[in-house]
Amino acid sequence: MNSFSMQKFYPTGQEYEIDPVCEMKVDPQNPPFQVSFKERTYYFCSEACKHLFQHDPEKYVKSETE
Ligand SMILES: [Zn+2]
Repeated sequence: MNSFSMQKFYPTGQEYEIDPVCEMKVDPQNPPFQVSFKERTYYFCSEACKHLFQHDPEKYVKSETE
């Protein structure tokens, strides 16, 4: 049984960001789309997700820290 999986694209130890709209993994080294909001940068897989976020960022930003 081989273990090819999504980890192929995100090897252990490599940082990645989660697109807050669709919850896909996005490579922050090469983000297709990004938005700064409240001193944080959010990364998106597509322009559509970016637009959704910009339309209503509070909906997608969860207080994950603090
Ligand atoms: Zn997305």
